[in-house]
Amino acid sequence: MRERRRWTVRDLRRDNRSVLLSSLFFEQPRSRQELSDETGLSPASVSNVIRELIHDGIVVEAGSVDSDGGRPRVLLQVNPDYGYVIGVDVGEIRVRVELFDLTMTERAKADYPLDPRQHGVSVIVEAILTGLDRVLSSSGVSPSAVLGIGVGVPGIVENGPGGLVHGQSYGWDSVPLERLLRSGTSRPLHIDNGANTMGQAELWFGAGRGAQHAVVCLIGSGVGASIIAGGSTHRGSTSSAGEWGHTTVMVGGRTCRCGARGCLEAYAGAEAILDRYGGPLPGTDQESALTALIDLAGTSARAAEVLDETALYLGVSIGNLINLFNPERIILGGWAGLLLGERLLPAIREAAREHSLRHPFAQTSIELGRLGPDAVALGAATLPIEALLSGTMFAATKSDRPAS
Ligand SMILES: [Zn+2]
Repeated sequence: MRERRRWTVRDLRRDNRSVLLSSLFFEQPRSRQELSDETGLSPASVSNVIRELIHDGIVVEAGSVDSDGGRPRVLLQVNPDYGYVIGVDVGEIRVRVELFDLTMTERAKADYPLDPRQHGVSVIVEAILTGLDRVLSSSGVSPSAVLGIGVGVPGIVENGPGGLVHGQSYGWDSVPLERLLRSGTSRPLHIDNGANTMGQAELWFGAGRGAQHAVVCLIGSGVGASIIAGGSTHRGSTSSAGEWGHTTVMVGGRTCRCGARGCLEAYAGAEAILDRYGGPLPGTDQESALTALIDLAGTSARAAEVLDETALYLGVSIGNLINLFNPERIILGGWAGLLLGERLLPAIREAAREHSLRHPFAQTSIELGRLGPDAVALGAATLPIEALLSGTMFAATKSDRPAS
């Protein structure tokens, strides 16, 4: 039987604090009155907690608006410079490190291209740590002002000591990424699967805003997904849920990077699409080759056929997601997902309709991501923000934050 939690006054305060801070983070500036209306907290509670948040420097006043006949209402916002967060995208073709302030405005960025066939752990760790130094020095932000670093990686991330990453397609077997990164930073680290971090970015700021049940599909060189159920990411028993790319679309089909046969990734990942086409294409990387293939579809029957098949595989697999999860929204993202979606979305929708049950299909919209192909780093940066908003960060960081 679950132990009943005993709430203390301090817990309640922290909970109200978390509710108000979250409300302000997502919709600002806001007056105390609006915060009270939105959160259902009493005006007195709002005043108390806001006083505390202003005292701590997290919330600042941002001008005022006239209210009908009464005193002008003071507007409040999250202090952009209370602290900073860093998001890292460990992608297939590059490592990207971005530093954001608390309004999620990008303050600095560093990119390190990777050879798509070379994902050695030491190469990646070095790129991340060099990127952290680079964004701090170019923004002039002191390391102690960084509230946390989120890292989105391809692979399964096991929560627990060491932050183990299992990236079967990359040859990463139980890589203790968190421990390795500790050699270069003392700031709080949050590591998650890249599809999950992109999913959270779309959920918070993009096409998923307001959805409680959604699936965000990440199509790059490989294929992944983030399943959002009841407003938060569904992780499964050991955080591997959402490995949509390794669900089977063809029994006994093409060999996948994971070693199995017939996986969706072996048909609809960019690498697989280009391989299925087989012919020469201009461009030195997968992104320009896939763009060329899409351009070619108007004149080449073979290119058009490969893309039609791709739409079918994706639509069938989206139909499976609809039947399994009954989402309100399916969001197609990732650099290849966005490129393909522009041309193939109607065919993908049609294939999904034909391969799912009528009732759940009718409840689902299938849309393109709105944050562009670079949402993984932004999403990774939401991991420390989540800790800040939920109140779990303060114990860890308050003591070593500089007074500002
Ligand atoms: Zn596979």
